[in-house]
Amino acid sequence: MLNFTVGPVMSSEKVCEIGGEQVPYFRTPEFSDIMLENERLMKKFTKADKDARVVFITGSGTASLEACVVNFFTPQDKLLVVNGGSFGQRFVDLCELYEIPYDAINLAHGQSLSKEKLYEYDGKGYTGFLVNVHETSTGVHYDIEMISEFCKKNNIFLVVDAISSFLADEFDMEKLGAGVMITGSQKALACAPGISVIVLSSDAVKRIENSNVKCMYLNLKNALKNGERGQTPFTPAVGILRQINARLKEIDKAGGVESEIKRISELAQDFREKIKGLPFEIVSDSLSNAVTPLHPLNADAHKIFEIIKDEYGMWVCPNGGDMASTIFRVGHIGALTKDDNTKLVDVFKDLQKRGLI
Ligand SMILES: *Cc1c(COP(=O)(O)O)cnc(C)c1O
Repeated sequence: MLNFTVGPVMSSEKVCEIGGEQVPYFRTPEFSDIMLENERLMKKFTKADKDARVVFITGSGTASLEACVVNFFTPQDKLLVVNGGSFGQRFVDLCELYEIPYDAINLAHGQSLSKEKLYEYDGKGYTGFLVNVHETSTGVHYDIEMISEFCKKNNIFLVVDAISSFLADEFDMEKLGAGVMITGSQKALACAPGISVIVLSSDAVKRIENSNVKCMYLNLKNALKNGERGQTPFTPAVGILRQINARLKEIDKAGGVESEIKRISELAQDFREKIKGLPFEIVSDSLSNAVTPLHPLNADAHKIFEIIKDEYGMWVCPNGGDMASTIFRVGHIGALTKDDNTKLVDVFKDLQKRGLI
């Protein structure tokens, strides 16, 4: 199998090995040590401030998006949401569901956020800003420094969904002044799906301590309290947390977050170089290293995904909704190599020879 999707992705041998092991009981000092080490390494790799905290939610990335909307905001807030694709829409849906007032900055698919557009919302009394720094559905990577500056100027609490961007693109939480950063186990962390991670700045921790949220499973105050001793309120996905521990240590040993970003960035550049001359157009005007979104000029995008899966045993990432037939994506996260890129490009060349693209 060769998997170029954006999650779940290919895992390292060590991570796969842990996936095949018995799952240990977890109310132990040994498991607490693993959790505290996971917290320490997540803080290090996101460049969070020294009193920042990390919560590991058993649930996919969306569980953490929901936890953040529920725990940080109330109907007294006024949020600004960047909506440039399915993940931006998810934040919009959450605001609707919890009746939190918001304005959405709607962007066409593939369009980045310009400074001009953003500053139309300057000085309008927003209290929170929700953004998917990499809108994975279209491949657009927003200018987070520009957004950070805007939020600092307007004193807005910034929530960053970096689920598919963490470890692929640079991110300095403290410098950006982000209140919260969210990621998930199945993207560049390259573990099994089932855990999402919320890094809370010390400012965010204070907000949670002073909040009174009516919610049980996603209650961050409760999670933070248990986390002080390296535990979780409910049974977590113990096996995946052990995988995350192995993976974070692998990254640390190989030179840390900078080396991992560099590795993924080189893979992405290698791929973008190798597809030159093929009948595809790269659709986004501001790319993440995590994925290359492609518009096939002469063929149906979903059909290409199906043929590559069924006839070549490889996976590229299909798009959903109204992008299904026009865009597919090739991921660069997970345990992939430049040789793997060549294998996929050879498949594209074969499809071209067969008159299918
Ligand atoms: C993958 C992803 C999510 C989370 O999706 P889940 O299916 O809930 O894990 C959220 N936001 C972005 C930007 C993503 O790439």
